[in-house]
Amino acid sequence: MTRLLESYARDAWVAPTDGLVDIPSAIDGRIVARTSTRGLDFGAMVRHARDVGGPALRAMTFHERADRLRAIAKHLGENKEPLYVLSAETGATKRDNFFDIDGGIGTLFAYASRGRRELPSERFFVEGAPEGLSKGGSFVGTHILTPLNGVAVHINAFNFPCWGMLEKLAPAILAGVPVLTKPATATAYVAEAVVRLIVETGLLPEGALQFVCGAPGDLLDHLGGQDVLSFTGSAATSQALRDHPAVSRNAVRFIAERDSLNAAVLGPDAVAGTPEFDLFVKEVVREMTVKAGQKCTAIRRVFVPRPLADAVGDALATQLAAVTVGDPRREEVRMGPLASLSQRDSVRAAVAEIAGEAEIRFGDPEAVSPVGGDAAAGAFMAPVLLTCAAPRAARAPHVVEAFGPVATLMPYDGLEDAVALVAMGEGSLVASVFTYDAQVAEALVFGIAAYHGRVLVIDRDCAKESTGHGSPLPGLVHGGPGRAGGGEEMGGLRGVFHYMQRTALQGSPARLAALTKSWIKGAPAPAPTQHPFRLTYDEIRVGDTVETPARTISLADIEHFAEFTGDTFYAHMDEEAAKANPFFPGRVAHGYLILSFAAGLFVDPAPGPLLANYGLDTLRFLKPVSPGDTIRVRLTVKQKQSARKPEYGEVRWDAEVFNQDGDTVARYDLLTMSARAAAPTAA
Ligand code: NDP
Repeated sequence: MTRLLESYARDAWVAPTDGLVDIPSAIDGRIVARTSTRGLDFGAMVRHARDVGGPALRAMTFHERADRLRAIAKHLGENKEPLYVLSAETGATKRDNFFDIDGGIGTLFAYASRGRRELPSERFFVEGAPEGLSKGGSFVGTHILTPLNGVAVHINAFNFPCWGMLEKLAPAILAGVPVLTKPATATAYVAEAVVRLIVETGLLPEGALQFVCGAPGDLLDHLGGQDVLSFTGSAATSQALRDHPAVSRNAVRFIAERDSLNAAVLGPDAVAGTPEFDLFVKEVVREMTVKAGQKCTAIRRVFVPRPLADAVGDALATQLAAVTVGDPRREEVRMGPLASLSQRDSVRAAVAEIAGEAEIRFGDPEAVSPVGGDAAAGAFMAPVLLTCAAPRAARAPHVVEAFGPVATLMPYDGLEDAVALVAMGEGSLVASVFTYDAQVAEALVFGIAAYHGRVLVIDRDCAKESTGHGSPLPGLVHGGPGRAGGGEEMGGLRGVFHYMQRTALQGSPARLAALTKSWIKGAPAPAPTQHPFRLTYDEIRVGDTVETPARTISLADIEHFAEFTGDTFYAHMDEEAAKANPFFPGRVAHGYLILSFAAGLFVDPAPGPLLANYGLDTLRFLKPVSPGDTIRVRLTVKQKQSARKPEYGEVRWDAEVFNQDGDTVARYDLLTMSARAAAPTAA
């Protein structure tokens, strides 16, 4: 059955009426879908996102947005089977779907968790520590991040219709920016089905998500300085988007991820018979065949020490010969067809160009006998391995991206040569290094890191649990310099911050503390009516401060602490040795003793809403404490981090320990959990 794909514009599905484009199945050329965007009012869609979606998302906290993402991910997970069926028409095998569909859903879950864990239940984010800007402390600065007031336009490639869309959508929605997403037409039927599932949850506010199914018309003409354009695809399209007058005139934030001739390098130590040799061969074959090599991260350039080139070539050829190509729905098939006949034509053309400077070692780019599918109308292609004996003198293997099951094996002469060869790719998303030798790893990693967004070092210790060369992960950056587009996606919160504006905020400590809901030294520090450990999370106020009585630390205290804990380090126990240490005037108190006594000074011991201390941050011991010194503590509520659960919230406290002269001897953030108002307390 041929599906008529619709766009989702201004909160309604819009069926195309004319200008329909046929989308053939990769397996047998049957027309599986038709679509067109003719008649869509792109200007109105952009305005709808800005005027309706943006304000609605910005009214929500990070946590509210994260919760919606989690619920959407759950819904997709419960309804993914039909997506697999559709996705097979793109040429995807079960294994491929794991990356695209499960990987996309996993990315939504990952961002939902990060949003809850690493972002506050606020609408803005305070980045880093405040900066002191004046001698008297009355003028300070800090950095805040707020969501851009525009729309995030996402233009995706054909190869990952689900993951490619969701890995961009999740950070944008979490940031509070509405999304207008456009899949590549060739596989848009999968993306459309995913968007239908998202829309049917009703979880995203109106205007938060729109879907352009087909050509983007004059969409880019409407972009302005609050908008973000994020693109995955070819270098040529990326260049056209970057040079688009509205994009350059309005300095639209532009993230590109494009052609990348990723490398794998075998270390000289990894000779035949070592685990690294076998792992290398396996990974190259896997990268050539997953998604039929149509992966932005796939290994295209295979670098091996010259003496190992034949052995690697033989091993790769043997394993590639065992790859069954055919209908991706059949169990025995390892590699499905390419996404379309035109895609296969362009891969064949790229192979021909590379073959001008290399030899085909395995595979025939023009002939294949698929198991199932239609050999003539399906976009099947055998894996092709080329070899290039003089890679320093060659160009095509380093710059022509054959976006299919194709790689070029190239020998190197020494590690410097390997580094220079990798750099000839002019910037890639990822490279992997296979070695068990520390020096080889160091030379290669630091030699090639500047050319890559990600480098993985594979050896026998990590291979079993490795996520592999080809998998971008939500917590790690995905992107690369130069040819790879110069963009960066994901990387945990970094990906969220691409959709936010960083603003340096200056003013008095009181003003900034009130604005950012984070206490800053110099801001008012009132004493609450009762000890804040006796207040629930909801009753605690930022700035509430406890000034403790003082306590003198005796030599007996230090010796007792040393014997009790076993920490009899000479600086606490041996006057002469301590004196010889340039940092100490003689025997000093343990840092941990100071912390322990500080806690003894500031705690309110009776059962109450304070539930637990779960850690310290940014601890520094700033001045030694000698026997006879007297310490006191000032404990201030710095931030109410999050009401994570209905039962409790997390509180960050500023703890500053002073000596009898008013000098700071220790400073740290204390992290606690306090019960919510509604929850029963332990009292
Ligand atoms: P394209 O660059 O042609 O298309 C990518 C996306 O851009 C698609 O959604 C496409 O839409 C859209 N697009 C095309 N032209 C415009 C335009 N003028 N304005 C706005 N959007 C536009 O790449 P393909 O996906 O077709 O792949 C072509 C080649 O790109 C591959 O063979 C491969 O070499 C490379 N590629 C590289 C990737 C990487 O990350 N390394 C990933 C994918 C592809 P539509 O489909 O409707 O034309």
